[in-house]
Amino acid sequence: MSILVTGGAGFIGGNFVLDWLAQSDETVVNLDALSYAGNLDTLKSLEQDPRHVFVRGDIGDRVLVDALLAEHRPRAVINFAAESHVDRSIHGPGDFIQTNVVGTFNLLESVRGYWGQLTDAERAAFRLLHVSTDEVYGSLSPDDAPFTENHRYQPNSPYSASKAASDHLMRAWHHTYGLPVLTTNCSNNYGPYHFPEKLIPLVILNALAGKPLPIYGDGSQVRDWLYVKDHCSAIRRVLEAGTPGETYNVGGWNEKTNLDVVKTICALLDELAPQADPTRRYAEQIAFVADRPGHDSRYAIDARKLERELGWRPQETFDSGIRKTVAWYLQHQDWVANVSSGAYRDWVNQHYG
Ligand code: NAD
Repeated sequence: MSILVTGGAGFIGGNFVLDWLAQSDETVVNLDALSYAGNLDTLKSLEQDPRHVFVRGDIGDRVLVDALLAEHRPRAVINFAAESHVDRSIHGPGDFIQTNVVGTFNLLESVRGYWGQLTDAERAAFRLLHVSTDEVYGSLSPDDAPFTENHRYQPNSPYSASKAASDHLMRAWHHTYGLPVLTTNCSNNYGPYHFPEKLIPLVILNALAGKPLPIYGDGSQVRDWLYVKDHCSAIRRVLEAGTPGETYNVGGWNEKTNLDVVKTICALLDELAPQADPTRRYAEQIAFVADRPGHDSRYAIDARKLERELGWRPQETFDSGIRKTVAWYLQHQDWVANVSSGAYRDWVNQHYG
């Protein structure tokens, strides 16, 4: 048996592949285009593992995806592949439409063709799980209830609009063609192997390098944070027991302002990596910068459907997860140095042209 994971060299996909192979003997076919965000260093421990089959390629490449499905006959496809960085989507939305909308459409068509050729028993067991974001729901005011699965889609950035479009395609392929699709909408993830352009790794690494810690606006934007391993366990649970056609919100009940997150990281670094000058505190490096255009003020996830129907619970609180994350970055300076220097890109170019 095997599963096909797309985007498995990225932050969440990489953690998912590592977790999956730590718990299962099922082969993982990992299709990833190795964009700037894909990093095979994350999967170094699997280099000699025959259960991990890495293929560099695009989810939008019908010929390649058709061939992979025919060769490996996976019982499930889990789609992590996406352009995922909101700031990049503001400066260059084209790639987001290409991968998140057109790429998802092509993937759906390949999977539909494959699924149609399975035996009845295989068709009934097959699942396509699409990993999406809470940002499709738009922004909340301070007094609004957290997003449920029935919240209206109101995406505000090119990133969230492209993810919303992909969710709608998934929904339509289920309703129109009967494809057994599951969709998860998750809050902000954090944890090991996070590309350093995102808030939490950026703050840890800038703090250690003595650089400013940039915070958009006044830092009052609220996000709901989930430790990445908890997201992976939720995906496994939905894959195992979710009802096709349903969507499941995934969140950690950890609403924090961006400023609180940064201050928490600074306090942990003061404890775990004190500066040479004992009077210095990392929080002194905080620097407020002009706000991002169209910045959503608050996201919050109501994950009770997943808890009630499938019995999933996150293992980490924000305090325990952020402590693990800071400690991980301190202990994995080689991974960080490789990403920061771009050395992993040289490796990719050498091996994949
Ligand atoms: P990421 O940017 O770290 O990884 C994305 C991966 O997809 C990279 O390895 C990249 O090389 C690959 N990729 C990009 N375009 C591709 C294409 N056309 N074909 C094949 N591979 C391609 O992103 P992430 O943070 O790991 O997010 C994974 C998924 O989870 C995304 O769909 C994202 O929308 C969703 N999500 C992320 C978060 C979060 O906080 N990071 C929260 C909720 C949902």
